[in-house]
Amino acid sequence: MSEQNHQTENWQPETLAVRAGAVRSQFGENSEALFLTSSFVFDSAAQAAARFIGEEPGNIYSRFTNPTVTMFEERLAALEGAEQCVATASGMSAILACVMGLLKAGDHIVASRSIFGATVNLFNNIIQKFGVETTYVSATDVSEWQAAVRPNTRLFFLETPSNPLTEISDIAAIAAVAKGCGALLAVDNCFCTPILQRPLELGADIVIQSATKYIDGQGRVLGGAVLGSKKNMEGVYGFLRTAGPTLSAFNAWILLKGLETLKIRMDAHSANALELARWLEAQPNVARVFYPGLASHPQHELAMRQQKTGGGIVSFEVASSRGSAKEAAWRVIDNTRMISITANLGDTKTTITHPASTTHGRIAPEARAAAGITDGLIRIAVGLEAVVDIQNDLARGLNK
Ligand SMILES: *Cc1c(COP(=O)(O)O)cnc(C)c1O
Repeated sequence: MSEQNHQTENWQPETLAVRAGAVRSQFGENSEALFLTSSFVFDSAAQAAARFIGEEPGNIYSRFTNPTVTMFEERLAALEGAEQCVATASGMSAILACVMGLLKAGDHIVASRSIFGATVNLFNNIIQKFGVETTYVSATDVSEWQAAVRPNTRLFFLETPSNPLTEISDIAAIAAVAKGCGALLAVDNCFCTPILQRPLELGADIVIQSATKYIDGQGRVLGGAVLGSKKNMEGVYGFLRTAGPTLSAFNAWILLKGLETLKIRMDAHSANALELARWLEAQPNVARVFYPGLASHPQHELAMRQQKTGGGIVSFEVASSRGSAKEAAWRVIDNTRMISITANLGDTKTTITHPASTTHGRIAPEARAAAGITDGLIRIAVGLEAVVDIQNDLARGLNK
């Protein structure tokens, strides 16, 4: 195997996405190989022993390491600017591995209220059983983070922009609070990917990725990753190697190839989303548009400082001149013919969701209203189709 070492090269992100981490086998393939093997053979009993005690580097078993998975990890680490990446079976297993690897019973988490629903379930219903409590605070009000700190606070957790209202958390400011109290800051960077936002450069300690979304980008496989310093990743990798929610080699290969086109896809998603957001703002039957790339977004300046673009997610409230707000929103959704009605995001295909009755449907109506997720709200994950076709598909229900 001959390694093309990315660390000695001063490559741009575009180049890292295509080249970093690539290792050629003896056959000299140009496209990275898919190693579908559960275990690896040794030359001798002595070599097996040396590998198991870590005296000799090399693969043993694919729950521990696999060359295709390693290539994906190296490439993503280079893009996020992380010392180490640990790939996982899904975004949720990345969050699980982060918590299991870094916390113990008696520790405390401070988390943004505006995080992925399954993450809230994980913290409240699973992690909590093992003696780790979570306090939820505003995504945007830094003083609430400071006020929630206890002597046993070990982890801050946030997601920016948030889903579905695209609130922006100030990563640098919250990282400073975390540092002040000796806690680690983990940022779920799923909506931006390292192409649009690099939380480690802003002071975060850990980045979480659901690779299922933009990194795959074509809605095919599940995958995730935890990234950070070698020291912090030691426990995360230890949990994974023992408990087993590791990334499959096949999925790693899909995701490795996904990274190669991530930059041009994120640019195209962002351009389409901005154009669609501007068009939505001009529609008489749209009450409000949520998109960080719009000057009307309350945190537009922070967003533009922290991210390269506004990203690919646009939410909007349908005006309900007749009937209920929910009916108005459902009318838009049910009159689409092209856009996919599904909660997934980060796909080449544009997707449409009604958060109040799907992703946020289990939250009590009053709590949902307090969080700003109204019955008229629609979330669009803008795909790579022509914007005019997305507009025409939405206009049908908006103008009915
Ligand atoms: C989808 C998603 C996750 C979970 O990822 P899976 O790959 O579905 O497990 C976590 N965080 C965010 C922001 C997501 O959108």
